[in-house]
Amino acid sequence: MHLTDLRHRLRELGAAPLHERRVLRNWAMGRPPSAGKRSIEDFFPQRLRDALPALETELAGLARLRSEHPGEDGTRLLLDLADGQMVEAVLLPRDGLCISSQVGCAVGCVFCMTGTGGLQRQLGSAELVAQVAAARTRRAVTKVVFMGMGEPAHNLEAVLEAVQALGTVGGIGHKNLVISTVGDERLFDALEALPAGAVKPALAVSLHSTDAATRERLLPKAPPISPQRLIERADAWARATGYPGLVQWTLIDGVNDGDDEVEALATLLAGRRLMLNLIPYNHVESLPWQRPDMERAAEMARRLHRRGVLTKLRRSAAQDVDGGCGQLRARVQRTQPVRWIGRQDGPSATTAAATEAPPPDPRGAAAADVAHVTTDAATHRAR
Ligand code: SF4
Repeated sequence: MHLTDLRHRLRELGAAPLHERRVLRNWAMGRPPSAGKRSIEDFFPQRLRDALPALETELAGLARLRSEHPGEDGTRLLLDLADGQMVEAVLLPRDGLCISSQVGCAVGCVFCMTGTGGLQRQLGSAELVAQVAAARTRRAVTKVVFMGMGEPAHNLEAVLEAVQALGTVGGIGHKNLVISTVGDERLFDALEALPAGAVKPALAVSLHSTDAATRERLLPKAPPISPQRLIERADAWARATGYPGLVQWTLIDGVNDGDDEVEALATLLAGRRLMLNLIPYNHVESLPWQRPDMERAAEMARRLHRRGVLTKLRRSAAQDVDGGCGQLRARVQRTQPVRWIGRQDGPSATTAAATEAPPPDPRGAAAADVAHVTTDAATHRAR
């Protein structure tokens, strides 16, 4: 579902702009539709009032918490979508939330679990906001990063629509909305075309190598954009908005942790309004890439600092659960088919026989799913 469809339906039910705002705000904030100073009897037109219970159920079903998996750096949430697909979101420290922009991903980064499965489908803008609404039933969310499964630039219209909603009725500060991208000229063009007064998000770009050929090997289906051009456009957006951009670098042993990359990075990022995040790779069982030695990673960060590049060496989020991008969803899919019939009543007889069936109440699934995830090697958040 897209937010434009939802707004259209509300108007058909007789909602004026102030009614529409209240419905959307309460939903995006994780509150019941009745929340607010004036009672719904005094406030909403009759037709809208009558439709609210069904609408509330439908919105809650857009992204329903299936299970949660606490880790040292964040709590990974597995969310059921209305059609039986699943996405991951992560509760990050300091009230942050990482959400998914697609089911699966077409970019095919060779080190990423989500990338190995390809794109399953786009998420509607309402499903993006629904991830925030679901997380807010658990705790406060004041920052949203589009850094989960999927490439936001490949679902651009929905992502920008969700950004506008989250930065207004969703109550998130504009610089606390961060779109993470492998880089796509269309995304930069769309951001630069935003009208005055629109919500302007921050950007995080996934660089991973300064060498175009290496980067192409790592991100085989990323849109064609050179490292130099990617950094220039990210820098231009950071200057236009006034808040610094992020450059994401998944650090892989023997691939992009060499002296050549340090030198090239120092040159490429000199004078830019960009901060570098070095994210040591978390090994994925089925993939050949390895995490570099942490002392070597720390030395790389120190050298870049000395060269004037603002660098942070990060511990990968949720690395101690079955944590990287798409890994948790992949694990559940291995034990349970993604789609099953009659979900509200539990799985069909066929799927139940083949799997460890989810309980009827998705919130009740947490314990069963955690049992599947605790023994695996941690993986990495790719961007
Ligand atoms: S790292 Fe991000 S862009 Fe790359 S395949 Fe995974 S989800 Fe897609």
